[in-house]
Amino acid sequence: MKILVLNAGSSSQKSCLYDLSPESLPSAVPEPLWEAFIDWTVEAGHGILTVEAKGQKRRFDLDSGDRIGGVARMLNTLVEGDSAVLGALKEITAVGHRVVHGGAEYTQSVWITPEVKATIARLIPLAPNHNPAHLEGMDAIEQALGAVPQFAVFDTAFHQTIPPAAAYYPLPWALTEKGVRRYGFHGTSHRYCAQQAARILGQPLENLKLVTCHIGNGASLAAVADGQCLDTTMGFTPLEGLMMGARSGSIDPAILIYLMREEGYSADQLNDLLNKQSGLLGVSGLSADLRTVLEAEAAGDPRATLAVNMYVHRFRSFLGQMIATLGGLDTLVFTAGVGENSALIRERVCQNFAFLGLTLDEEKNRRSPRNQLISAPESSVKVLIIHTEEDWAIATEGWELLQSQPGRES
Ligand code: ADP
Repeated sequence: MKILVLNAGSSSQKSCLYDLSPESLPSAVPEPLWEAFIDWTVEAGHGILTVEAKGQKRRFDLDSGDRIGGVARMLNTLVEGDSAVLGALKEITAVGHRVVHGGAEYTQSVWITPEVKATIARLIPLAPNHNPAHLEGMDAIEQALGAVPQFAVFDTAFHQTIPPAAAYYPLPWALTEKGVRRYGFHGTSHRYCAQQAARILGQPLENLKLVTCHIGNGASLAAVADGQCLDTTMGFTPLEGLMMGARSGSIDPAILIYLMREEGYSADQLNDLLNKQSGLLGVSGLSADLRTVLEAEAAGDPRATLAVNMYVHRFRSFLGQMIATLGGLDTLVFTAGVGENSALIRERVCQNFAFLGLTLDEEKNRRSPRNQLISAPESSVKVLIIHTEEDWAIATEGWELLQSQPGRES
């Protein structure tokens, strides 16, 4: 069965097509049959579409800034030209959308209905850059594929088991009632990594206390016990928590009041400052890319050194917080760009948890092996690198929805 996945960002549209069969589930992760990416950032009113299929990459110019038209053009490459992998678009059984914000409403994936779309639209103020793009993607699919079943997989869903003590902010209750609370993000990745960790360790997920560390440009930790998320570092928005590439993570909220009063900052300027000019970029003055900052640190640059030290300090602090919530730790998982590739960050973060009996196998850690243990045999905590497969996780959610409601397939 062919499942198409759409992963819309504020200025990009990723998509891939998987062929799922009972044999491909649940463990093996197949390569997608077709992958496409639209980058809308190159020039205003212009997009670049890159399509990878049959072992070849092709590039197309999209001359209009029309997002829905862009998706239609992208879908055309599934059935036309050298990249065609389908005879007709109607071979697609279902289409899954990664949706950044599902509020507290959705604890799992759902079929998209007019009500679901209305809820995603109502949540636009909480995800102004993403939820509109998701709705555009859904409309584009409707236009191109008619009544194909579409489903939404929410980044927030996995975190809706977080108990009130961790989910709510110590603010006047009326604000909590209005939805000012922790939602958490990267949920599809955290859930996938927790499940993969249990599979690799050959243990039921319900028996494990895990912290999953999704560390890319955006970064968050999740504390998972009995297969349920008990806390996460991102909050009302993906700004809270760890220091990130260009995002500050948690800071004293009174800094914002100070900047507004004394420096005349507007809401938009604060948003830009905290989301785009802070983090590794803001401190080092060099880059949001950790690789560049690590190179500068190695060359003796003092601000780069400080940026990396702050990054590691904050990572350790939040990891400690997650472990305290769990009251112990069996398994630590590293995933995403930094988590999967930076042996140095993993080593420095883990150093301070040696008191728990956590020891890395130095050689394995240095090699950054995918989907393997990197802890020493005697370590009290199993440490794993897991390659996150969000798109595949979305496709399998669709498969599960179809199994539970086979009527949707027709
Ligand atoms: P996103 O959050 O945008 O999906 P990724 O998960 O792809 O990002 O992570 C991107 C980040 O991963 C880059 O900013 C880069 O700093 C970091 N990264 C990738 N490879 C390495 C590496 N070998 N060493 C350190 N950092 C790396």
